[in-house]
Amino acid sequence: MNLVNLKDASDKVNFAEAVKKGLGKNQGLYFPEEIIPFENIDEVLALPFVERSIRILKQLIGDELPEELLSKIVTTAFQFGAPLVSVTENIYSLELFHGPTLAFKDFGGRFMAQVLANISKGEPITILTATSGDTGAAVAHAFHGINNIQVVILYPKGKISPLQAKLFTTLGGNIHTVAIEGDFDGCQQLVKAAFDDPEVRDGLHLNSANSINISRLLAQVCYYFEAVAQLPKKQQDKAVFSIPSGNFGNLTAGMIGKSLGLPIKRFIAATNLNDTVPRYLKTGEWTPKSTIATISNAMDVSQPNNWPRIEALIEQGYIDKDSLIGEAVDEEYTQVAMRQLASLGYVSEPHAAIGYRSLSRSLAGDEVGVFLGTAHPAKFRETVENVLGQPISLPQPLADCVGKPDFSVDIENSYEALKSHMFSILK
Ligand SMILES: *Cc1c(COP(=O)(O)O)cnc(C)c1O
Repeated sequence: MNLVNLKDASDKVNFAEAVKKGLGKNQGLYFPEEIIPFENIDEVLALPFVERSIRILKQLIGDELPEELLSKIVTTAFQFGAPLVSVTENIYSLELFHGPTLAFKDFGGRFMAQVLANISKGEPITILTATSGDTGAAVAHAFHGINNIQVVILYPKGKISPLQAKLFTTLGGNIHTVAIEGDFDGCQQLVKAAFDDPEVRDGLHLNSANSINISRLLAQVCYYFEAVAQLPKKQQDKAVFSIPSGNFGNLTAGMIGKSLGLPIKRFIAATNLNDTVPRYLKTGEWTPKSTIATISNAMDVSQPNNWPRIEALIEQGYIDKDSLIGEAVDEEYTQVAMRQLASLGYVSEPHAAIGYRSLSRSLAGDEVGVFLGTAHPAKFRETVENVLGQPISLPQPLADCVGKPDFSVDIENSYEALKSHMFSILK
């Protein structure tokens, strides 16, 4: 598989290099040189999840990873399913929270960890990543205990739910967590600065496990196929996907799925008040505002870093721009949607509720809607309990880490502070 830097077409790499580097020159994103659609999509849809996922990843990655290795990687990474649950007659939730950290990021995180562990052949690597919540947990769990890989996770102090934080700050070992005085965009700026600093980038063999890493996106393509495969046959070509979005990795993955021939009718980019993309789709003007803290905090992103890939998918003719609309949902309607879902017998959390709300507003009579259930409601227990007025019990992975000590270190929002911290712990 060849990937081209979207900021510099002369920077072309193979899959392994793209996974190791994360970002290309000038902080450009890597994008597949070509996406070849399946000839027979029904045959692919008929396969069981893991087998189908191996086929999808082989179609994308090509012969670069031997089939046996790819098969081992996928089998190790995807040890949990993605059930499609019916919420109303024509609306489904694709539940992506049955992995160890209860959010969709387990799919990409675990696939990436297995790929890196297998292609790095023991050479030292430092993963540096910023998280607005769920990435940190997924990456931490996915890499925990992999010998040659150290992980540094930055997160905005006090801006993610305490339960969510517990999932990644309590692991220790090769997992180092840093609370930054600032918001998620600030954390992302620090990560970018580190990648621009050769002393850190080369000295510590930096890699970012953010959703900018192509391996995470490719893994996520697999569950869009799984969703369509679970739909009743006569609904399979009518699906509208509503994607609760922050950095827009999930939407990018869905669009890569459609480019492979998956019959997705159209997409809804659903955001909270951080609505840079919905405003852009309506007005054509890219005018990010400062980030607003919301109850769907994993989507509190005003400068989504995967957006250039979506533009590329449209510009290169894989995706028709009319098959994407944007919807922004404010705090009040996020809660209204959570209550509506509960009255339908489906307890959900703010991110998925935004997907549901955006879908129910725009779904036509002859369409079937799928919103992504991006996280387990217990991960946002305080909010869910407040909004629904009913107790939420903790699933095992969360219950297990509640009483464990927190290994995080606080640092100010400054690159120099981060740099000296990293050298002090990673020497
Ligand atoms: C990460 C995350 C999102 C946003 O996904 P992107 O791929 O960054 O757009 C939405 N919901 C939850 C629960 C998340 O963890």
